[in-house]
Amino acid sequence: MMPFEQSNYWLTTTAMPAGTPGEVPASADVAVIGAGFTGLAAARALGKRGARVVVLESNTIGWGASSRNGGMVLTGLKLSPKTLAERYGLDMARQMYAGSLSAIDLVEQIVREESIDCDFSRCGHLEVASKQSHFDSYARAVEFLASEFRHQRKIIPRHALKEEIGSSLYFGGILDETSAGANPARYLAGLARAALGRGAVIYENAAVRQIERTTRGTDRGFAVHTDRGSLFVRDVLVGTSGYTKAVTQDLQKKVIPIGSFIITTERLPDSVAHELSPRNRMIFDSKHFLHYYRLTPDNRMLFGGRAAFFPETKHTIASSARILGRAMVEVFPQLRNTPIAYAWGGTLDFCFDTMPHAGVIDGLHFALGYAGHGVAMATYLGSKMAERILGSREEIPYASIPFPGMPLGRYNGRPWFLAFAGAYYKVLDWIS
Ligand SMILES: Cc1cc2nc3c(=O)[nH]c(=O)nc-3n(C[C@H](O)[C@H](O)[C@H](O)COP(=O)(O)OP(=O)(O)OC[C@H]3O[C@@H](n4cnc5c(N)ncnc54)[C@H](O)[C@@H]3O)c2cc1C
Repeated sequence: MMPFEQSNYWLTTTAMPAGTPGEVPASADVAVIGAGFTGLAAARALGKRGARVVVLESNTIGWGASSRNGGMVLTGLKLSPKTLAERYGLDMARQMYAGSLSAIDLVEQIVREESIDCDFSRCGHLEVASKQSHFDSYARAVEFLASEFRHQRKIIPRHALKEEIGSSLYFGGILDETSAGANPARYLAGLARAALGRGAVIYENAAVRQIERTTRGTDRGFAVHTDRGSLFVRDVLVGTSGYTKAVTQDLQKKVIPIGSFIITTERLPDSVAHELSPRNRMIFDSKHFLHYYRLTPDNRMLFGGRAAFFPETKHTIASSARILGRAMVEVFPQLRNTPIAYAWGGTLDFCFDTMPHAGVIDGLHFALGYAGHGVAMATYLGSKMAERILGSREEIPYASIPFPGMPLGRYNGRPWFLAFAGAYYKVLDWIS
């Protein structure tokens, strides 16, 4: 394999706005921890309503998963509608599914309202069947979604798949034309500018080290201690997802950080790009250890997967790039001689029930657990939690379900069991 840069391609397409200089202010209404989609969507919504909001970020704006992802803005959650209905009942499952659709609408609305130039487009997503048995299950799934959730998807039989994808590897597909695609780093930068424009301040290199309950006069709130000073706030919103640390330990114990990795090729000639993805869909396959891929707006093939399971390091990125490069050529032999230009990794946030969660823990508001569906859902739950902080009593389906920790044994946020989980999913892909 040719040498490639270990860096995030999306960051070459935009500049993040500068953070706020100086020490954090002595007080504010709300401290938001994390400058990703969750934190910045919340900061924008809070700022819009006149709240004094301070965003505290350990690294730089958009440093986390929000600038590193595939930019797929997908309908539904990680769990299938059928599983949601079996687990939570049909009514609640419908609310959850509807929430995923509202989340995409919200991204679209923010992009329009804030004039964010991020190539947002309702290009649709395509799930491709890696096995005949997977394709055989599609008809029932599509029917269930249509009859019980009033959401239409379309079955693409194997013989018609070439109109959707230039690969002969798959047994057919499901198309959902409501899903969208975007350049996540440009969207993130736009969201940060929007939050700043609504009066929020964003402090970079301001890791939150300690949070204490305290009072100031008659006001009850929190003293938040950061690398750039301390402040008193009435409310805190934690938006740290896969990067949640021991400073919010009870939350950290409920999140499993899982690595996901992406490569992008050099720019492809228009004719090749068109052959690989004639309708420019957001594509993923039906395996547990799945691959997801799409064209970038400048015609690179972006190809991702959970190649290593462990979070990103120089080593896991290098080995994942090799694994993903081979997998990409299996899907698209046309790319056999196309150099890989960039490879990077990021950390996904899975909860033990594979569901997003929002609510209050130890007095702190939070939203996380997006399980690879965070572009839209983090925007949505960040905005919804901001409204909650401002007094809204609107029901949020993901806030009223049980939030389980590790089913057996003790867990301190270091996922020792991932190696076993990785092997388990590989076996499942082999036998199912
Ligand atoms: C490789 C990859 C591909 C993905 N692809 C997709 C996709 O195509 N579609 C999709 O919908 N989702 C995808 N996701 C998931 C999606 O990117 C995330 O769910 C989403 O970005 C989470 O946003 P967030 O704001 O909650 O967290 P992040 O963007 O991860 O931000 C959390 C921030 O919190 C900061 N932080 C942590 N602790 C502290 C502290 N103590 N003090 C201050 N700051 C702190 C971190 O520095 C970080 O910047 C992908 C994720 C990865 C990693």
